[in-house]
Amino acid sequence: MSKIEPVNILMVDDQPAKLLSYEAILGELGEHLISATSGREALEQLLKNDIAIVLMDVSMPEIDGFELAAMIRQHPRYQKTAIIFVSAVRQTDLDRLQAYELGAVDYIPVPVIPEILRAKVSVFAELNRKTRLLEGLNEELERRVEERTAELESATARERAARLTAEAATKVRDDFLSVAAHELKTPVTGLRAIAQLLLRRMQKREITEYPWLTDGLVTIDQQSERLTRLIGQLLDVSRLDKDDQEAEREETNLSSLVTRLVASFRARTTKHRFVLMADEELIAEVDATGIEQVISNLLDNAIKYSPDGGAIEIEARLSDEHYARLVVRDHGIGIPSEKRDEIFERFFRAHSDDHRSGLGLGLYISRQIVELHGGKIAVEFPPDGGTRFEVLLPVAAKTLAPMQQP
Ligand code: ADP
Repeated sequence: MSKIEPVNILMVDDQPAKLLSYEAILGELGEHLISATSGREALEQLLKNDIAIVLMDVSMPEIDGFELAAMIRQHPRYQKTAIIFVSAVRQTDLDRLQAYELGAVDYIPVPVIPEILRAKVSVFAELNRKTRLLEGLNEELERRVEERTAELESATARERAARLTAEAATKVRDDFLSVAAHELKTPVTGLRAIAQLLLRRMQKREITEYPWLTDGLVTIDQQSERLTRLIGQLLDVSRLDKDDQEAEREETNLSSLVTRLVASFRARTTKHRFVLMADEELIAEVDATGIEQVISNLLDNAIKYSPDGGAIEIEARLSDEHYARLVVRDHGIGIPSEKRDEIFERFFRAHSDDHRSGLGLGLYISRQIVELHGGKIAVEFPPDGGTRFEVLLPVAAKTLAPMQQP
């Protein structure tokens, strides 16, 4: 809307000559002028047209200007219509005018000075246009807000539906894995037991002429052990995902636990060198089996992902008065930087095309166990390569041991 769009101006006077003179004065404003010679005719015009300004003579027969103004104001549709009275200056008229001060009302004395009339009408016309423009903008704004709200609501609903579908799919997968793991456990255990039994019998009877048979049985034993471990991880995941899991805790010397584990890993591989730094006593209230699982997993990974051997450094020390720090650091292949954020996620494998990778559950389970203890697990990548895992576990108050290097 702009100045080009004229507004309707209703001129009311019982004298046609006066109407003509108003027309002459206001003509150059370019607005749309409508004439009425009586109050009644004025009301008819008001019903037919959208009137922005009423210019009216105060003294008219039948309905005078003030009565007409009162009728106009009563109607909600004309609340915003500006009224300009034309009158000889009489005190009584001025008093009556007081009653209209709240609306858009003005007053022109006679004799009418054309410039003043034009100026007043022009101000009201502009005001009307601006008000309509503002109303239009408001409506547009409201429409857009409504549209946007509707869009947001439907996006939220879509998102919720997608989340529910994803959650349902995850539950189906988890249930399946849990059932499958349970079902697989028994035959694999049986398989391994038979392989071990046959190996023992062959040893006992000193059967050495079939080395391929011995090798085959050893492979079956090793692979079924690996399978048992993977199945164990799947069972751990479904167990740990149930929130009600509260592990049994006992006072444990974490240094001894780590030292014992390192000894068993030393026996397992000669390719890697294990360097252990442990405080003599590092007492914490923990589920020892769980923490053993965490450290074993870190050591397992350190071996798996350091294909060329090398040193694996382990620490079990007091970090500060609240936490014990258990560290496993290798000098292996490390983890590509774009995958580092995800390695504690379920089923995440940073080297998925590597045959050494498992199910991507070890670190996830480790984090769950550590967090159940109120601890933290984090990974770092030292500038000289390899990977450094650090586990912080709350210590018992009596742990105040001097550092010792075995
Ligand atoms: P996985 O059974 O696959 O080893 P984990 O949860 O223990 O599962 O580890 C997740 C992934 O993190 C691994 O697949 C591997 O890509 C990466 N990773 C874990 N530990 C190391 C490490 N010490 N060095 C390099 N990569 C590692």
